[in-house]
Amino acid sequence: MFKNLVSGENYDVTLSNGNLVHYINFDNAATTPPFHSVINSLVDFAPIYSSIHRGTGFKSTLSSKFYDEAREQVLDFVGGDRDFHTVIFLKNTTECINKLSYRLKNTLKDKIVLATYMEHHSNMLPWTLKYNTSFVGIDDNGRLDMNDLENKLKRYRGKVGLVAVSGASNVTGYINPIYDIARIAHKHGAKVLVDGAQLIPHRKFDMKPVDSPEHINYVAFSGHKMYAPFGTGALIAPKDTFKDGYSELVGGGTVKFVSTDDVIWADVPEKEEAGTPNLMGVVALTESIRTLKCIGMERIEAYERNLTAYFLDLLKNIPNLIIYDDFQTENKVSIISFNMNGLHHTELAYILNKEGGIAVRNGCFCAQPYVQRLLGISNEDSKRYRHNDRCNLPGMVRISFGLYNDYNEIDLFIFLINKISENIGYYANMYRNFPLD
Ligand code: PMP
Repeated sequence: MFKNLVSGENYDVTLSNGNLVHYINFDNAATTPPFHSVINSLVDFAPIYSSIHRGTGFKSTLSSKFYDEAREQVLDFVGGDRDFHTVIFLKNTTECINKLSYRLKNTLKDKIVLATYMEHHSNMLPWTLKYNTSFVGIDDNGRLDMNDLENKLKRYRGKVGLVAVSGASNVTGYINPIYDIARIAHKHGAKVLVDGAQLIPHRKFDMKPVDSPEHINYVAFSGHKMYAPFGTGALIAPKDTFKDGYSELVGGGTVKFVSTDDVIWADVPEKEEAGTPNLMGVVALTESIRTLKCIGMERIEAYERNLTAYFLDLLKNIPNLIIYDDFQTENKVSIISFNMNGLHHTELAYILNKEGGIAVRNGCFCAQPYVQRLLGISNEDSKRYRHNDRCNLPGMVRISFGLYNDYNEIDLFIFLINKISENIGYYANMYRNFPLD
């Protein structure tokens, strides 16, 4: 239904038997192909594209105006408050969370950061390497253990300064109950960061009013997972987060005055965006937001949920498959991870590509503690694999749908996975020593 919205949809690939087939991209949690509208916006903007905030010329003034107004569009998209919040444009979610971690260093001094076992490494390492960090556990089905969250907040008695949680898991797609988490965290004096990388492209998101008990204090997301190209992410945070001190990166654009022994920092948010800003990245991001809003986040949710339900119903009937969640589609975005008994996850991913032209992801998806927990490997045991290369860590195969995937592609996938499942020995033999080309 939404196929013609994205570029590269009619790409064909050659299979191992020489047949030419339609390429099926089921790896949208990693990166989505850009919308045609996004590419067109870049082409349209190119003639007037100019360095911003530094020129008086027509093009520079127009570019600056566009860039500044883009912040309002992002705020509107996530339900931020113009008077209270700022939008900082950075490279991606990872950079946004690293900035936040750096800029909260005074606020979180002597405090504890509560992350979860479900986090992507990008919402884990920026906290564990700088702060005293504790982790909320997950239950056997892969859900966040809300009792553990509350117990830990109680146990640390006002010491938790921040709860850092993903909006949706990039492994199981599980959508965390972020408003319940916010309510509980605020009751214990903690603020909440939502890593929105996997949630924002798939669900309507709202930070909620600043005085609401469910208010989300900080959110970060990446353009390349929502049909814009690589290179642009946004961090939305209260302006006063950046009032004191200065950015982890300093230089052009971050200052009002400089002498060899003095500096006056620019206002927020400019002081946080060192170097010439990525105007074209912001043009692309705002166009992807405009397109998503035009389609309607509710329509996107409904379509992706139907697709996921259809897929899961079929997948559950395939022999020898282990699926790593039992969530209802209202509790998950369109991500499904699994393994096949008798095949290594790298072999299975490789076979899907070679035999069906189907792109999936495999491995730990930058969420090693969560993947290992789902595989039943303890934190201690996981250390046995410390020196394995990435392909040989215990892992899974992941399917993630974009809004342009369709039922026909799912049928083709199911046909192939069924064939593999019925002939595991044959495929295992054939691909055991697969060359990773
Ligand atoms: N958090 C989650 C949940 C993710 O899925 C990802 C990307 N896989 C990231 C953070 C990091 O995003 P980026 O690579 O765009 O910084």
